[in-house]
Amino acid sequence: MTHKLKLAAGVLTALLIFAAFIYMPHGEQTSAESISETAAGYKILVLNYHKVDNMNISLSVLPKDFDWQMKYLHDHGYNTITPDELYKALTEGGPLPDNPVLITFDDGYRDNYKNAYPILKKYGFKATIFVVTGFVGRYPNYLTWEQAAELEENGISIESHTVTHRSLTDLTDDQLRRELAGARRDIRDHLGKESDFIAYPTGTYNLHIGQIVKDEGYKAAFTIKYGNVDLGSNIYAIEREPVFHTENTNKSFLERLQYLPVFAKFGWEKN
Ligand SMILES: [Zn+2]
Repeated sequence: MTHKLKLAAGVLTALLIFAAFIYMPHGEQTSAESISETAAGYKILVLNYHKVDNMNISLSVLPKDFDWQMKYLHDHGYNTITPDELYKALTEGGPLPDNPVLITFDDGYRDNYKNAYPILKKYGFKATIFVVTGFVGRYPNYLTWEQAAELEENGISIESHTVTHRSLTDLTDDQLRRELAGARRDIRDHLGKESDFIAYPTGTYNLHIGQIVKDEGYKAAFTIKYGNVDLGSNIYAIEREPVFHTENTNKSFLERLQYLPVFAKFGWEKN
């Protein structure tokens, strides 16, 4: 290479580095600003229930406690949202009501229909149930497809919790794809809708699983990682606040509402 060519290459490289340096931070800032116009400042609460029944186990909130909690949200100006509204707020700056809350249930227990649904209806609340599609209509403790259809028609979104509820980190890629695609197919066949959202069974996931979930057409995925959701949240690892039956379930519930992760308080970035 001649001296002149070397010099030209050097100048070009320097220009490219300089261009990348001035362009990149500006580009990031612009997109963040456009989203923040509607979603800035939001700490979106996503609650995670399992059973609502008179059982003395941590995964089962008593119906009277569930009623107390829904009344609390209602009386304190919380507004329930759908997973799609959450997704649009996080990705496109879509609008959210004041004090947004996404109420979710995992596994698709029949008590969600029997006990939780009438209470949700009483307060005019939306919610989301992540069903194990292979259990629906098959085991007596789980929803039937008829119940799922009625819920879906009345503001309760039915979404995916896979076909068999196996921990996704234990599966081969082929098994994983069958669980993910199979649940979408079951929901499509029985309810005539596309299920775009999934909750990871047992909460286990990793980046590779998140990528396959995305490839299979899901828009977002929910974990059991504690925390409130904001623009720093990973759309394939959305945080939720669990509500358990405890010695004082409603006090624990109020603590969950107040919960702010330490890194959010200090303004640290999530990853
Ligand atoms: Zn589950």
